[in-house]
Amino acid sequence: MQLSIDLTGRDVLVAGSDHAARQAVRRYQAAGAVVYRLSTPQGAGHDGPLPERPFLVAAVDDGQPGWEPLLDRCRAAGIPVAVEPAAGPVGHVTLVGGGPGTTELLTVGAIKALRDADVVFYDRLAPCQDLPQLTSAELVDVGKKPGHHKVGQADIEKLMVESALAGNNVVRLKGGDPYVFGRGGEEVASCVAAGVPVRVISGVTSAISVPAAAGIPVTHREVSHMFTVVSGHAPLTEKEHQHLAGLGGTIVVLMGIGTLHQLAAGLRRAGMRTDMPMAVVERGYRPGQRTTIADLGSITTAAAGCSNPAVLVIGEVVRVAEANRGHAEAAADLDRLAASLLGS
Ligand code: SAH
Repeated sequence: MQLSIDLTGRDVLVAGSDHAARQAVRRYQAAGAVVYRLSTPQGAGHDGPLPERPFLVAAVDDGQPGWEPLLDRCRAAGIPVAVEPAAGPVGHVTLVGGGPGTTELLTVGAIKALRDADVVFYDRLAPCQDLPQLTSAELVDVGKKPGHHKVGQADIEKLMVESALAGNNVVRLKGGDPYVFGRGGEEVASCVAAGVPVRVISGVTSAISVPAAAGIPVTHREVSHMFTVVSGHAPLTEKEHQHLAGLGGTIVVLMGIGTLHQLAAGLRRAGMRTDMPMAVVERGYRPGQRTTIADLGSITTAAAGCSNPAVLVIGEVVRVAEANRGHAEAAADLDRLAASLLGS
């Protein structure tokens, strides 16, 4: 259960050891509360003046014995007690898959890791607009635009490792899934090499979710029983074009806007039908989401104005979306008809 309550200017007593309580302290401060600290059950008087009757007691589950009698006295006096999770062990890195850019598609594991973080290094494609609501951590933008690395990959790895070695819980928040064209493997390796504990929380990859945002299922019974995810970062070789054209399933291309022309030409040379349906889905789940549908023969012209970030889909499944959209539009027409009949 999650409740929201306005704590601006309210006295909140955060009870728990300094280490375990540090993130709870930041969260309550960020919420505008006046935070008082009690670091041990016997600490009253040692931790500075305490409010006579706090608005709320935030009890951090720090594993110390002796808190219960104190908390029971607060409850008996009618002071609400909120139980807060303790900060995790210090000095580790968590690579978090942030999904395609909407907070809706963050996992529960991602939300927890963000809540436990002291520092978040985030990418351009991660869902960064809501980060201040999800974490009290320091936020560092290491975002990359294609060709314009704000912070180079080696420097990102160095920053992460140094921050963890200094005792911080570091979250490296990446777009989509960390292991799908995300250099997640390299970042894990650099932590391992430095002896820093590291774990990975998978995310919802744009390879599946962005087509879905446009109504395109990457597989569909009797239409496509496989999908291949390809990087369009650099043009493919002739052999790769032939291989892809021969597969027969759905082809999903990430980072493919810059090489769309070469890809379409290569697949045609490799014998793919020119009426093979194609879609370009730009800015999935973000303002300005747009889908352009054409076929292999016409996509280069149709998608001339398309820009990154975008996911390309090549395959018959694109028609499924068109058919479903037809149904959705028909349903919307029926709703409008019903509303106008009811209104008249
Ligand atoms: N690890 C990421 C992919 C990183 S490569 C993942 O699993 O999704 C970056 C590419 O992902 C972009 O060039 C684009 O092709 C795609 N992408 C990521 N988010 C997107 C979005 N919201 N809309 C469209 N494409 C997106």
